Amino acid sequence: MIIKSATFVSSNNRVDKLPAPALPEYAFIGRSNVGKSSLINALTGNRHLAKTSQTPGKTQLINHFLINEEWYIVDLPGYGFAKVSKSSRAAWEKFIRRYLLLRENLQCVFVLIDSRHEPQKIDLDFCYWLGEQRVPFMLVFTKADKQSQAQSDANIGKFRKALLQWFEETPPHFLTSAESRLGCAELLTAIDEINAK
Ligand code: GDP
Repeated sequence: MIIKSATFVSSNNRVDKLPAPALPEYAFIGRSNVGKSSLINALTGNRHLAKTSQTPGKTQLINHFLINEEWYIVDLPGYGFAKVSKSSRAAWEKFIRRYLLLRENLQCVFVLIDSRHEPQKIDLDFCYWLGEQRVPFMLVFTKADKQSQAQSDANIGKFRKALLQWFEETPPHFLTSAESRLGCAELLTAIDEINAK
């Protein structure tokens, strides 16, 4: 897929204020600092589209970006930041769960996972919840340029093995780098294929 245009549409903190669900959309989510903004910028070829944040967990907003006038990238607030209170974490969960369960035009959730780390409970728990709720998702391992392919592969293997405790098969996965754009074309092709269905 060629990205001809990528424009910011809206930031929302309420599910009932989101853009009309008239176009297919793809949500990106992961722990704060996983590289979500950088990956969205790399995918769209626009270095300023999503803000790369220095203050993890500060923005609790759902951002919509319109791509090629045909579909949306949805930037969801990151989870797992240490410095927020229990009450704001509970509010985050309610808001995101509502979005993920109710959004009728949501085609797929891309769960971002830092390829440098061994499987983290918070990521596994989130994938378990998505699977249990039958929300379609794929795995996107980030920051591949930061270590060897063998190290990334080992961590991906462990993550998939952990998911196989619960599921009969694991969802498709991508190994990506916002620096080198590794995996970006493959991820866009996957979106293209779903849009074409
Ligand atoms: P977010 O909080 O998930 O949106 O994460 P950001 O996109 O703000 O990235 C967090 C930090 O990781 C920033 O310092 C980025 O420059 C860095 N980063 C993100 N993706 C990559 C990547 O693919 N390669 C490298 N080397 N650094 C990355």
